[in-house]
Amino acid sequence: MGIFSGKIRGHHDYDPALITKWFIPKQKPYGNDYNGLGETVKRRPGPLMHGPDNHPWKGMMVWLLIKGKVPNPPIWFVEVRGMIRDKFGHKPIAPAKAKGTAEEFKKGLEEFAEAHPFIHQMGVTRMKESYMFAGQNDLSKEYPWVISVAQRMEYDVLVKNLEGEFKRSGAIIHKGYEETHVGAVDVANWIRAKGYKAKGYGGTSIIKGEWHTMIPPAIDGGIGQLAKNGSMISDKLGSAFRLSTTLTDMPLITDEPREIGVDEFCMSCKKCHTDCPPGAIGNEKQMVRGVEKWYVDFDVCMPYMLEQNGCAICVSTCPWSRPGVAPGLSKKMLKKMAAANKKTDEGPATTA
Ligand code: SF4
Ligand code: SF4
Repeated sequence: MGIFSGKIRGHHDYDPALITKWFIPKQKPYGNDYNGLGETVKRRPGPLMHGPDNHPWKGMMVWLLIKGKVPNPPIWFVEVRGMIRDKFGHKPIAPAKAKGTAEEFKKGLEEFAEAHPFIHQMGVTRMKESYMFAGQNDLSKEYPWVISVAQRMEYDVLVKNLEGEFKRSGAIIHKGYEETHVGAVDVANWIRAKGYKAKGYGGTSIIKGEWHTMIPPAIDGGIGQLAKNGSMISDKLGSAFRLSTTLTDMPLITDEPREIGVDEFCMSCKKCHTDCPPGAIGNEKQMVRGVEKWYVDFDVCMPYMLEQNGCAICVSTCPWSRPGVAPGLSKKMLKKMAAANKKTDEGPATTA
């Protein structure tokens, strides 16, 4: 163990650096408490990366900003451009509303997304108050629909993290933040040109009062399913993709959550659990804010991620992330699940 870098002592045995330990909260609530691990009642999550003032990991977040971003100008520029885009990137809303049905608007939106260089998958769902982080405004009345846009990350660069090259993979992750944010703002502008309200948000959006989760609406909008690594897996993009959202009042047809075989696959796969250096990924689902789901141990992941200035090993190591693999894997899993269901329906074979 050093002052600035920790030490992997063995499999899933990580000793954080002295300075990291200094930032780790010494008493409850720890990160997992803040996230609601073990809580059986449903509640909205708190915004971990951005605020609020009483955030138990606030000091570590600030240290992450100083250590990881200030000496890395490409990342810093992404953040600044994101702020400028948040503030000035949206075009004026056309004075008259375009005529059209929800079906027609959805079709037009799909065509726009299809042609956009940074949008590789899209899903639409109803905005829910539960998507808003605790303490944020309820935007579900102002913006009844949420459009999730996903962008495939550059896998060849991302996987450099498996060789310990976190700086390049970190830059790719931030590039993904930026490009999906561009996609979300462009979608918003396409809608605004038709006279409806719309606003694009990315991973770097820092608009107080408007922070919302990105994974739950993307799951509800049919992009993919939650995986053991705490990220989503899509049957088109695997696990290596970034998300952004556009909130709007344009009437749209919603998509539905889809079974693509991820949960079943993760039940028997242990790749991310084995490969996570500090051992933050468990093999069982956990109860988190009233829902049983896959959960990454924040208190174990965060110090390691902080010291490496990013990590995402659990994303690159996932077999679904290899380019071109996800559609076939999903089909195979769905076939297997259908066969298992058929067997159950038929009941045990009789010998009489
Ligand atoms: S980001 Fe790294 S430390 Fe965190 S869960 Fe994934 S592999 Fe583990
Ligand atoms: S590595 Fe395996 S267990 Fe982990 S998320 Fe990917 S498929 Fe699921």
